[in-house]
Order: sequence, then structure tokens, then C-alpha cells
Amino acid sequence: MQKLTGKCLCEGIAYEINGELGPIFNCHCSKCRRWHGAAFRTRATIGRSKFNWIRGEELLSRYHSSADTVKVFCSVCGSNLISTYDNRPDLVGVPLGGIEQAPNNQVEGHIFVGSKSPWHEIIDDLPQYENFHEKVREVADRSRANLD
Ligand SMILES: [Zn+2]
Ligand SMILES: [Zn+2]
Repeated sequence: MQKLTGKCLCEGIAYEINGELGPIFNCHCSKCRRWHGAAFRTRATIGRSKFNWIRGEELLSRYHSSADTVKVFCSVCGSNLISTYDNRPDLVGVPLGGIEQAPNNQVEGHIFVGSKSPWHEIIDDLPQYENFHEKVREVADRSRANLD
């Protein structure tokens, strides 16, 4: 079984993921761009049971970025760690930037390209999706095994 580890910038918080990541997308939505200070956020959804904090849980801070979505970050160094969902407590959203190994799966495409940064040009041939939600539902159904 795949095992991945990650940590925040100050290294006070560390986590591990045991199992496969769900489908990986580059999200170009304005919230991800602002949260990460970057052109896009590369992220995957995994089942909550595959994710464990291994140290520093007491350093976590949380921010509701929308009614159901909570962004979890390090209160010391500000690193973006995971997203949790009030309406889907069984899932965790993970940005790949903090992961220390190469996962078994690759980026599948770009989502929310309609709100892409005007200064960033997508130059790969991966599929681009204007409407994220239908796509995510489709891939979540396809990869339900990965999310359980
Ligand atoms: Zn930190
Ligand atoms: Zn986003």
C-alpha cells in the first residue's frame, strides 16, 4: 500500500497518508489561488480514514472558506495543510505541495479554468474543465474505492 508523508514549512506539523490518492487536479479557482498564493492548487481528495496527523495537531488553525469547507493550516508558519468538509466528514482535500514522495497517480486535468489567473498560461495537454462539480462527481463515482 502506498504511504505518503508531508509536513508544514516550520515542520511542527506532520501527517501521513496510507493508501491511494483520489484523482489529482490543478484547481484554478480564485479561492485556491489566494489560499496558496500561486497560479493554481494541485489537490486530491482522499478518504478521511487514510489521513493521520503524526505530530503537531495542537498547532492547527481552521478557517471556514465557505459554508461547508474548512481550510486547515499551521498557526505558526501559515502552511496550507488540508481541507475538510462539514457535509462530507468522510473526506479530506489534500494539496500535493506538502507531500514528500511521488504518488502513484498523476495530475488528470485542470478545473475551474474559467477563473484562471490572467497571467498564467496552461501549456500542457491535460483536459480543462470550466465546471468542476460535474467532473468531480463523475470521478468520485469512478474512484469510490479510493475514497472509502
Ligand atoms: Zn508550521
Ligand atoms: Zn479551488
